[in-house]
Amino acid sequence: MKPVGIYVHIPFCASKCGYCDFYSETSAEGQEEYLHVLSQEIRSYAGTGTRADSLFVGGGTPSVLRADQLNRILDSCRDVFGLSGECTLEANPDSVSPAFLEEVRRGGYNRISFGAQSADDQELRLLGRRHNASRITEAVREARCAGFENLSLDIMLGIPEQDAKSLARTLDTFISLEPEHLSCYLLKIEEGTPFARKHMERYCAGEDQSAELYLQAADTLEQAGYHQYEISNFARPGKECTHNLKYWRCEEYLGFGPAAHSFFRGERFYHPRGLDAYLESNGENRISDGPGGDTEERVMLGLRLTEGISYDTLPLTEIERQNFLRKVKKFTKAGLLEQKNNRIRLTKQGFLVSNFVISDLLFF
Ligand code: SF4
Repeated sequence: MKPVGIYVHIPFCASKCGYCDFYSETSAEGQEEYLHVLSQEIRSYAGTGTRADSLFVGGGTPSVLRADQLNRILDSCRDVFGLSGECTLEANPDSVSPAFLEEVRRGGYNRISFGAQSADDQELRLLGRRHNASRITEAVREARCAGFENLSLDIMLGIPEQDAKSLARTLDTFISLEPEHLSCYLLKIEEGTPFARKHMERYCAGEDQSAELYLQAADTLEQAGYHQYEISNFARPGKECTHNLKYWRCEEYLGFGPAAHSFFRGERFYHPRGLDAYLESNGENRISDGPGGDTEERVMLGLRLTEGISYDTLPLTEIERQNFLRKVKKFTKAGLLEQKNNRIRLTKQGFLVSNFVISDLLFF
């Protein structure tokens, strides 16, 4: 069996950012109990012969936990899955210190991903982030000193009042920090968040301006030597996130903790949001999401990657294949798709309307 990826969700944050829809609690209560149940859930796979070659500890804010607590999670994964390879820790610039970074690096984390978002203090304040721009620079310096040679920064696009000039400053600042990887996400106003209640969309970039900001980021990063390998992700050659590639290539992974999703032995399942329910069920409140890895998923996920998909292996009937190829031709002519050696991939313009192109391709 191919090694899987391991995702661990840390459902704690020091405070909530106004736009955030990820599951997390702002109280530190229950952290030790959580680690205990989490370890039990991980250990429930002992003896199944499952191996893992990547770990991603995300959240929430993993760096609100102590380094020894985070190292215990990694140790459990080593014991049970013989974990090797890329081990990413998500962290916020405000909640790391040199001692913390040295300890988690020594514990085995070899990649760190900072939720940096912007180098503009006003934008960071609007987002409700706890750090300012200079703290990002310090955190990156501290991570390098601690021995992290693989480092990623998140950038947010479409922040209220962000324009081409402020985005250019953020991009220049972040590029000057020489991260190996950058992720650029478009701010989405999610229902139920403080941003939705305050109708913050009034101050955010509209569709056209968002498209311009996205293309500006993609062009700037490519000129700086970061190649785009996924709609939102850019890396130095060889520094693509191997864990996240598993999601888009429809490879298997196990997710632990509330709100974590899994695709394992052909089945998809997940834990619902909610720390209490997770603790009460001893980590056994998994909900089945049916079989995974069908054609629809492979097209939907694979076309997020610039490597695209090979379409001659898709299990389609003759009529479906003809319909599919007709649409591929139409989108290629429109400049939204590229075709090479029986593979198709979205162009940069195609990425801007990826939902439309993918759902049309899948309507056989
Ligand atoms: S730190 Fe991250 S997970 Fe926590 S509230 Fe902010 S965006 Fe959400």
